[in-house]
Amino acid sequence: MEHHTHDNHSHKHSLACGHTKIKHNGHVDYLHGSHLHHGHEDHWDECKIEVTEENPAECVQVESPCDHNEDCGHELIPHGDHYDYLVDGRLHHKHNGHVDDHGPVEVIG
Ligand SMILES: [Zn+2]
Ligand SMILES: [Zn+2]
Ligand SMILES: [Zn+2]
Ligand SMILES: [Zn+2]
Ligand SMILES: [Zn+2]
Ligand SMILES: [Zn+2]
Repeated sequence: MEHHTHDNHSHKHSLACGHTKIKHNGHVDYLHGSHLHHGHEDHWDECKIEVTEENPAECVQVESPCDHNEDCGHELIPHGDHYDYLVDGRLHHKHNGHVDDHGPVEVIG
């Protein structure tokens, strides 16, 4: 398992901290500036959603209520080797002028 630590992380995530929380592989990740942060002992690890059958990195076009851009208000979330937009608990990937669905994530709260 890769183990990336986020240095100089002064904010302490908690279930009340206001960041988007994702349930992932039995732990809670906090969506923090397009990173997934996972509390591990006394530091914060960088996490990401793996490419799986449930979260494929494939071209599965969906109708999206949003065209998605830097300012659209949807949060970016790391998935495999790319970033997706989080829309109502699903990963939306902008791809050649359309939007792909990369499956669900479990948003808490
Ligand atoms: Zn937080
Ligand atoms: Zn963080
Ligand atoms: Zn995680
Ligand atoms: Zn596509
Ligand atoms: Zn958007
Ligand atoms: Zn994706």
